[in-house]
Amino acid sequence: EQKILEKPKWLVQHVCNDDTYKNVRKLVKNLNLHTVCESADCPNIGECFGHKTATFLILGGVCTRACRFCAVPKGKPDLIDPNEPENLAQAAAYLGLKHVVITSVTRDDLPRGGAEQFAACIAAVRNSSPDTSIEVLTPDFRGNVSALNIVLKAKPTVFNHNIETVPRLYSAIRPIADYQQSIDVLRYAAHYGEPPLVKSGIMVGLGESQEEIEEVCNDLHEAGVNILTIGQYLRPSLKHVPVAEYVTPGKFEMYKRIAKGIGFEHVVSGPLVRSSYHAGLMVEECVHH
Ligand code: SF4
Ligand code: SF4
Repeated sequence: EQKILEKPKWLVQHVCNDDTYKNVRKLVKNLNLHTVCESADCPNIGECFGHKTATFLILGGVCTRACRFCAVPKGKPDLIDPNEPENLAQAAAYLGLKHVVITSVTRDDLPRGGAEQFAACIAAVRNSSPDTSIEVLTPDFRGNVSALNIVLKAKPTVFNHNIETVPRLYSAIRPIADYQQSIDVLRYAAHYGEPPLVKSGIMVGLGESQEEIEEVCNDLHEAGVNILTIGQYLRPSLKHVPVAEYVTPGKFEMYKRIAKGIGFEHVVSGPLVRSSYHAGLMVEECVHH
């Protein structure tokens, strides 16, 4: 049993409980939506909700996989809510979001992993908020090309799929996933017709080495990924894998330099960085380049 490391001061976040935050929570609940911000206990919830940004978790709040780093509830999946796309679009419009992130639990029980619901959500948001950029953060769809085509045909601004960790740690951390399959999913998106911006993310602090991070960065860049996020793994509960290392802000800077050296134009690297953290800003920067 590994010893539990004490959390360093750079990970302490302000608790946010102001009116905006409460209103967003209420709205999400009333529309029968889920946000990953709440389901995954994201440490940036105060900041993002305060800035009227949220990442919606579609296809129910229960996942069919059991990744050992993830706080999303696992078990028998929820029924699909046919009103979800409309409700999500309503919430996005009401909140005046400039950038919407749509992600889902993994639905290995559905033939195309719920790709149709992603497409319907993209269409609904585009219809009610035509100027809003839309980012999808998808599961691997088991590499199913027809599922990927359904999502990509709906033209998200950003296609995001997280590689999460280095290949050596997959069996311990993402046992049902496959590193190469995730790389191939990203490559497919990057080479699709009029490709979206393609984005991926890595968690550090799980016991990976610097060389292994470099290798992952190389693989992602070679696959055609444009935007990279690197953040600290935080253990959601004692049932999840322990933190092997609290990576220092200095080391995050170094990872950023390495990734930039490999050729990524957009890298966000820091202890509290999450896949969707400052997602809107990243897109703005990309579009202005
Ligand atoms: Fe939500 Fe992402 Fe912000 Fe976390 S970083 S609160 S998941 S939008
Ligand atoms: Fe969490 Fe995604 Fe893994 Fe499901 S597939 S347990 S939502 S990380």
